[in-house]
Amino acid sequence: MAELIDGKRISREIKDELKEQVAALKEEGKEIGMAVIQVGNDPASSVYVGNKKKACAYIGIRSESYELPEETSQEELLALIGKLNADPKIHGILVQLPVPAHIDEEAVIKAIDPAKDVDGFHPQSVGALSIGQKGFVSCTPAGIIQLLKRSGIEIEGKECVVIGRSNIVGKPMALLLLRENGTVTVAHSRTKNLKEVCRRADILVVAVGKPKMVDASYVKEGAVVIDVGIHRNADNKLCGDVDFESVEPVASAITPVPGGVGPMTIAMLMYNCVQAALM
Ligand code: NDP
Repeated sequence: MAELIDGKRISREIKDELKEQVAALKEEGKEIGMAVIQVGNDPASSVYVGNKKKACAYIGIRSESYELPEETSQEELLALIGKLNADPKIHGILVQLPVPAHIDEEAVIKAIDPAKDVDGFHPQSVGALSIGQKGFVSCTPAGIIQLLKRSGIEIEGKECVVIGRSNIVGKPMALLLLRENGTVTVAHSRTKNLKEVCRRADILVVAVGKPKMVDASYVKEGAVVIDVGIHRNADNKLCGDVDFESVEPVASAITPVPGGVGPMTIAMLMYNCVQAALM
């Protein structure tokens, strides 16, 4: 039976550490501020934004909320980002994605000052990660590294396979595992013999966006399996990209869905915001 990697516990641990750090900074007279911008009222985005604001309140970060109407123009949004870039009381700027179709997402990401880019999506942040320089790292893959480290799972020298090559999960995940001295393979929709490639993995990270696609036939006995996927099935129950019931008996450790990778994303966003204030 696999050990369960408890993302809820580890994210709470990180948030509590940050809470202490923020309280100490407050005593020195430094308050941390984060701007959270949402354009339109997509219900899923509203839930994410609400959770981010709740996490800020828990840790002691002041959050400023900008709920803009769907018809907000790109110019208006960029003007707001420009104003927040110049505001010394704001350390982190988060624009909840996706933005409505009439707004160019890339232009929005590029408009955020890299020093306030707490999502780690700015090309400068991505570039810094790829050449091993300091910069903000995309929160979900950064959270997965924390899950592994805080569960005592060694990465150095391990065969790591990441399924998925998106800019926000797969690619930064591969770079982070490489930074930790893993031997990294990135698989995607054109990969041949996917199961065979995955069965090489000591650490298998699945970010494929397909409910329960990865079953035991993809997993080597004793591998660590990290499930990034989040899906809601017909009964409104959450499941991941991994078929948990099939994989759990084969793996040595596995993240559940919910309660695995999910809670880590917000914890790392808070971490990035505190780092932004310390810069
Ligand atoms: P994307 O859809 O952007 O990327 C999916 C990747 O999987 C692509 O690189 C694609 O390959 C690859 N892929 C698709 N089908 C196959 C296949 N049959 N075989 C091999 N590779 C395949 O997804 P994201 O990276 O944004 O997200 C992945 C999952 O993680 C989703 O379920 C998402 O909901 C979840 N997620 C969870 C977060 C959390 O906080 N827990 C945060 C972000 C995402 P190709 O490039 O060739 O098309």
